[in-house]
Amino acid sequence: MKFSQTFIPTLREAPADAVIVSHRLMFRSGMLRKLANGLFTYLPLGLLAFRKVENIIREEMNAIGSLEIKPSVVAPGELWKESGRWESMGDSMLRVKNRAGADMVVSPTAEEMVTGIVRDELSSYKQLPLSIYQINVKYRDEIRPRYGVMRGREFTMKDAYSYHVDEQSLDETYQKMGTAYRRIFKRCGLAVLPVRADSGAMGGSGSEEFMVESEIGDNTLLLCRECDYAANVEKAGCKPDYDAPADALAPAADAAPLEKIPTPAARTIAELCAFLKTDAKTFVKTLIYRAVNVELDLSNAPGCALLKRVRPAPDAPAVYAEAFFAVCIRGDLDVNEAKLAAALKAGEVSLASDADVERLTGAPVGFAGPVGLASLPVVADETTAALKDAVAGALEKDVHYRHVAYGRDFAPWLAADVRTVKAGDRCPVCGGEMYEKKGNELGHIFKLGYKYTKPMNARFLDENGASQTPVMGSYGIGVDRTLASIIEEHHDDAGIVWPMSVAPFHVVIVPIKYEGAVKSATDAIAAGLEKSGVETLVDDRNERAGVKFNDADLTGIPFRIVVGEKNLALETPSVEVKRRGEEEAKRMPVDAVVQETAGMVFDELMRLG
Ligand code: ATP
Ligand code: MG
Repeated sequence: MKFSQTFIPTLREAPADAVIVSHRLMFRSGMLRKLANGLFTYLPLGLLAFRKVENIIREEMNAIGSLEIKPSVVAPGELWKESGRWESMGDSMLRVKNRAGADMVVSPTAEEMVTGIVRDELSSYKQLPLSIYQINVKYRDEIRPRYGVMRGREFTMKDAYSYHVDEQSLDETYQKMGTAYRRIFKRCGLAVLPVRADSGAMGGSGSEEFMVESEIGDNTLLLCRECDYAANVEKAGCKPDYDAPADALAPAADAAPLEKIPTPAARTIAELCAFLKTDAKTFVKTLIYRAVNVELDLSNAPGCALLKRVRPAPDAPAVYAEAFFAVCIRGDLDVNEAKLAAALKAGEVSLASDADVERLTGAPVGFAGPVGLASLPVVADETTAALKDAVAGALEKDVHYRHVAYGRDFAPWLAADVRTVKAGDRCPVCGGEMYEKKGNELGHIFKLGYKYTKPMNARFLDENGASQTPVMGSYGIGVDRTLASIIEEHHDDAGIVWPMSVAPFHVVIVPIKYEGAVKSATDAIAAGLEKSGVETLVDDRNERAGVKFNDADLTGIPFRIVVGEKNLALETPSVEVKRRGEEEAKRMPVDAVVQETAGMVFDELMRLG
C-alpha cells in the first residue's frame, strides 16, 4: 500500500478535549475523527487496527465453538417489554418509533434479541449447549462520553450468549469463555486482571470482569497482598474487623438502658464524636436511600404496602418503580451503592433528597436512626449487628439515642453486606491485607441464570420429554475500548508502539527520495514483503525524510525500513531496519532484508500466540 494512495491525515496537535494518551494518539496518527459527542469515525489506518482486534476475538470465540451470527442492530421494543428491561434500562437505551408507531430499540446489549432468536428455534435438549456471538454496533446514551472511544455512545461489542440444560453445562462454557478471554487479551499485548464482579442490572450469580490497570480507570479494585483474591469494589467483601456475635439479635446482658440525649448543633458524626467524646465506630449511621426499579418483594416491608408495582410480563418479576430505605452502617464506614443496589435488586440507588428525608423520618437530615422507625424498611449492614451500646439519631431535631443495642432496640428488615471495602481491610479469603488499584473494564462474563429465559419463555424438552427452561450466560468485550487500551499500554513520547498482532501494517518503508534506484529498491522490497504475507506501507510522499520519520513513529508501525542512495551505493547495497521503540537501526543487505524482516515479523506474531 502506498501512503499517497491511502488517507492517513496525521496531526501535530491533538484536539483540546483529548486528555488521555490513546485519545490523543488515535487522532494525531490519523486513525480516528470525531463526528459528535461520543460518536466517531475510524479512518483507514484506525480501521485496520480495529479489524485486527476484532479478528483475534473472532478466532478465539470460534476456537471454543461459539457460533457467529449477525443480527440487526435495531430491535423491537416488544422483546424488552417481555424481559422487563423496557422499564429498567432507563435513559441509556435509545428508543425510537418506526413509521407504524411501534417501539424500537437501538441495541445497547442483546440478551433479549438473542434469547428471542433461540426461543423460536429451540425444541430439544439435543440442541444444547448453544453458544452464539456477534461482533456488532451497540448504542448507549452515556451521560458523559469521554476519553475518545474508551467510553463512546456508539461502540462495537463482541457479545456472546450461551444456553444450557443445567448449571454444570453453563459452568463449563463460562470457564471456557474465561480462558478464551485470557488468550484474547494476551494476543493483544495486554496484561489483564480478572476480578470478581457485581452482576449488576443483569442479575444472576457468577461474574468476572477483565480489567486493565489504568490511572484513568473508572473502577476501584481491591487486591489481596497474600493470595489471588481480586474484586471490583462493587463486589468486594472483607473479613469482619469486629467480633461478630453468635446470635446477633440476642440482647447483651450488661447493656445500659436506651437513653435520649439532646445534641444541639451536632449533626455530622465528627461533631457528635467531639460532643459525646466517643468514636465513630460506636455509631449507627443511618442514610435514607431512594431506589428505582426494585425487584425485591416489598409486600411485607414497612411503609411499602402502597407502592406502585409494575408487572411488565406475566412471568417477569414485579418491579417497584420507586422505594425508600433506611440504610444503617457502622459510623466509620461508607455504604457502597452498587452493593446496596444488588442487595435490593434495584436498578439504581441514590441518597434521598432532604425533603424526602424529612417527609419519611419526621426529622431533618442528620437525625435519622433505626429505633422506632416504622415508616421505612431498615437495611442494616452486617457491621451493625455487633453494636450493642451505640449512638443513633432519634428521629427528632437535635436529639440522639445512646446505649442503642442491635436486636434489643432495632432489628433490620434486611441484613446485608453493603460496606465499601478499602485499602487496609482484610481479605475475605485469607485475611491478608488488601490494597487498591484503578482499573478499566475491557470484558465481562456473567452467569445469568434464568433472568431472560424464564420471562421470555424459552423452553426445551429434556431427555424424559419434560419441558424445561434453559439456563443462560452472557459474555462481552468492548472492541474499541480494547484497542484504545492497547495504545495506553504501548506508546512512547513519539507515538504508538503497536504489538505486531494488532499493528495496522507490519512494516513501513521510508525511501529518502522516492525516485531512481531508491524507488526501484523500495518497490522490490515492498513486493517481496507483501508476497511473504507481510503487510507493508510505502511512504512514497514527496516530503522531507524528517516528516516521514515522525509519521512512522507516530503511527507506530513495528518495523521501519529506510532506503537511501548512500546505503544502496555501498559495496553490499544495504538499507536500514529499525524496530519501533528501539533506539538503534540495523544495516541490512538489500538481498537479505525481505527474508530477515519477514522472519522477525512472524516470530513476533508467534510469540503473542
Ligand atoms: P462500564 O461499567 O464501563 O459502563 P458496562 O459494565 O456497562 O461498562 P458491559 O455491559 O459489561 O459494560 O459491556 C461489555 C463491554 O463493553 C465492557 O466491558 C466494555 O469493554 C464495553 N463497553 C461498555 N460500555 C462502553 C462504552 N460506552 N464505550 C466503549 N465500550 C463500552
Ligand atoms: Mg460490565
